[in-house]
Amino acid sequence: MASLDRLARPLRSLRVSVTDRCNLRCSYCLPEGSQIWLPKAEIATLEELASLVRIMTLVGTTRVRITGGEPLLRRDLPTLVRELAELPAIQDLSMTSNAVLLRDLAGPLRSAGLGRLTISIDTLQASRYTINTRRDSHADLLAGIRAAEEAGFTPLKLNTVVLRGTNDDELVEILRFGRSRGHQVRFIEYMDVGGALDWDPGLVVSQSEILDRLESECGPIKALATGGSAPANLFTLPDGTLFGIIASVTAPFCGACDRARLTADGKLFTCLYAADGLDLLSPLRAGATDDDLAALVDGRWRNRDDHGAQDRLEVPDRGPSAQAVELRAKPHLGMHTKGG
Ligand code: SAM
Repeated sequence: MASLDRLARPLRSLRVSVTDRCNLRCSYCLPEGSQIWLPKAEIATLEELASLVRIMTLVGTTRVRITGGEPLLRRDLPTLVRELAELPAIQDLSMTSNAVLLRDLAGPLRSAGLGRLTISIDTLQASRYTINTRRDSHADLLAGIRAAEEAGFTPLKLNTVVLRGTNDDELVEILRFGRSRGHQVRFIEYMDVGGALDWDPGLVVSQSEILDRLESECGPIKALATGGSAPANLFTLPDGTLFGIIASVTAPFCGACDRARLTADGKLFTCLYAADGLDLLSPLRAGATDDDLAALVDGRWRNRDDHGAQDRLEVPDRGPSAQAVELRAKPHLGMHTKGG
């Protein structure tokens, strides 16, 4: 039985940030000078992460997404995937990655039991990618996509964070790229999460603007019925292209949020905007039993009433949710630490 929080939302999904490190420096996530990495000694081992995920299944978790930071930077990741894939309670095991290191890892991850893969691709232009990520890895990203296809991770989901003046002129090209390879593109509204130090409402291209722009170029768009806790609203173009929009800024979906986040140092967060997490690694290392740990998680979830993205709608003169100095003092505020 899944634990229910104070708003009757069940605990079903878990994002596991296996590392806070990343091999890209996207301007909206890890801008220059903002990052303080978690101390190495505090990072959970793969065995510890597997134990904590198993404990999460005791209180309802059935869907697990591995993320980061960049999850492929974590050594021996296929070993963790194999352990998680063997947990009988997990019905859906997926990963979000920038794909830069995927060329050599797609096959081993597939063999280890990874079910689905989402790849972040904000631009099709190599020079633009280098400016936005401060790394020259666009060819590796494309090679990673090909490797994922060859390994059988099809269809992929392709995530594109849309920033005004940065990549909002590429919406149609990105949709065509996705469709030509049989993948589903999901446009993500630029969120004011920790790490987005330059966030400004003017830089957000809202769901309705994305739809207007696509409609003017491609013709009438049909909205599909979506339900449950899936974050993306789904649409089709007249030629049948299916795509999603994650409208976390203008139309937050907190009411259906069934998601917890586990950080690489074993802290459980119950909202992307939460300032504090519940330390599960210390009690695990001190010898707490599965039942003890499950009771801790259950208690935390039952007390949960977070609706961070909805609360942000009420903030007057909305700007970044954390400043650089706060991020440096509290690295868990960062999206790369909590797990995107
Ligand atoms: N490194 C992996 C990747 O790039 O997919 C996984 C972690 S990353 C934090 C997960 C997702 O969060 C990516 O699709 C990224 O674009 C998105 N993201 C990061 N900061 C964001 C922001 N400020 N607004 C919206 N999405 C963001």
